[in-house]
Amino acid sequence: MRSASVKLIRTQQPIIAHAGFGMIVVGRFFYLLPTIEQEAILAHELGHIVYRHTRQRIIWALQLRWLWDSSFSDMLRDHELEADAFAVDSGHAEGLLAFLSKLTPAPLYPSPRERIARIHALQGTHHG
Ligand SMILES: [Zn+2]
Repeated sequence: MRSASVKLIRTQQPIIAHAGFGMIVVGRFFYLLPTIEQEAILAHELGHIVYRHTRQRIIWALQLRWLWDSSFSDMLRDHELEADAFAVDSGHAEGLLAFLSKLTPAPLYPSPRERIARIHALQGTHHG
């Protein structure tokens, strides 16, 4: 695994968290969550940083590829599932499942139900 140096930034924005360029930004909603879920979210966001997802998204944006290439949403989906797998690998499956079970579906993103199913599948693999 590539090591990453990460800065944590607090904002008053009504968001949970997002990541990019070596930073994880946490907003007002983050602090309303139980610690186990906060840790899982940080692990998920760290996954985005380690896999350099933001860089890929920016490259797409600069090339205006999202205008004609319908696989943009596939990329976002892959990024979310990859970041979830990273969090599971670092031992945060339980917190992530707790968080996802409360999450409502959002456009472009994989559904919480799909993400939960993927995590269960990963856990199955990990336990042999
Ligand atoms: Zn994410």
